[in-house]
Amino acid sequence: MNTREKSDRLHKRAAKVIPGGVNSPVRAWKAVNAAPVFIADAAGAYVIDQDGNRYVDYVGAYGPAILGHANPKVVAAVHEQARHGFGYGASIEIEIELAETIARAVPAAEKVRLVSSGTEAGMTALRIARAATGRAKVIKFDGCYHGHSDSMLVRAGSGGMTLGQPDSAGVPEPIASLTMVARYNTLDDVERCFRTAPNEIAAVIVESVPANMGVVEPAPGFLKGLSDLVHRHGALLICDEVITGFRLRFGAACETYKAEPDLLMFGKVIGGGMPIGAIAGRADLMDLLAPEGPVYQAGTLSGNPLSVRAGLETLRILAAPGAYETLEAASARLGDGLRDALRKTGIRGCVNRVGSLLTMFIGEDAVVDADSARRADAKKFATFFHRMIESGIYLAPSQFEAMFVSLAHGGEEIERTITAADQALASGLEP
Ligand SMILES: *Cc1c(COP(=O)(O)O)cnc(C)c1O
Repeated sequence: MNTREKSDRLHKRAAKVIPGGVNSPVRAWKAVNAAPVFIADAAGAYVIDQDGNRYVDYVGAYGPAILGHANPKVVAAVHEQARHGFGYGASIEIEIELAETIARAVPAAEKVRLVSSGTEAGMTALRIARAATGRAKVIKFDGCYHGHSDSMLVRAGSGGMTLGQPDSAGVPEPIASLTMVARYNTLDDVERCFRTAPNEIAAVIVESVPANMGVVEPAPGFLKGLSDLVHRHGALLICDEVITGFRLRFGAACETYKAEPDLLMFGKVIGGGMPIGAIAGRADLMDLLAPEGPVYQAGTLSGNPLSVRAGLETLRILAAPGAYETLEAASARLGDGLRDALRKTGIRGCVNRVGSLLTMFIGEDAVVDADSARRADAKKFATFFHRMIESGIYLAPSQFEAMFVSLAHGGEEIERTITAADQALASGLEP
């Protein structure tokens, strides 16, 4: 391990001109009491920082990097596209292809509109739901993140959980009060919200597999039961697939759990690392969007050719036989290895894993919702995080994030990670 001198210097320089020195708060190393590394290069499963330290990367750009970094085929596709211009403010053929690919893979996605971020997708899905139902309120789950639009910044998971800010300043109370918060994995609590505000709730929005309070698995029957409950009350179900879409299967994860979404959100993987988001769902709802209907939504860079080409090439590679089986095998080995490491060292904790998403919660035996996630030991996690960094394993600097496994994580990287975790835990995590 080299020093992190250059990163430290860059962080000081950044902090003078960029708030907190970062362009997204989850990139700060505030919760682990250090200055973040600056990344200079990346390839496959590895990132290299400005001082030349090389790490096995489990941040994966917070989700998009499912093929690993700088996949040569995706890079070539983007190069080729760039020669033809970056966008025209006009329609292009390949955006139809991306919408068709999503619609074919996701039965509930009859129509698709592309935007530039998951945040926009969430904001627009809510607007459609409110317009369609004539209702104003929305239910979200404690610990789920759906982007940083005003209505969604209530108990919004990792960013706030890490920094101890459950909600955001600057969201006017009348807007925040339209968002009701239910306990994840607890249908009774959703029922309670509907009873409190009968005929006022436009939609329930849920991460199909929550990954923003750390990874939490939906309890058996939860998403199916939620669909029935929501529809019985005349509301719409919005499944947020920004992380899970095309990561957990070629399509929407919620369909594995028999959910029946009216609207869905995509992002991350479908842009292959370039900025993207998508709203999808029932044709009658999607046709409420301008210019077909009265719900306004627009975007200068929506469906831009570089994002669309990167996304299409990524999905083409994921569609090849065996891709998800390979991801599953590597992720299962990692999950088992981390679980063994906890058991061998007698350190209390658990590993939640769904496909290529996993979180090791330290200090808590079973994490099923935001309350149990918050009981995890963030101090001990910080110790673990620094030991892993020293061993060349790059985790997100928060107990409440996922590890993202990519197709570039081979046996060597996974075994190195398990060995590093064994060593990091061996001497206990007391400061
Ligand atoms: C990342 C994320 C978003 C927001 O997407 P951005 O592109 O960052 O705006 C929304 N929902 C979930 C589940 C996410 O993980």
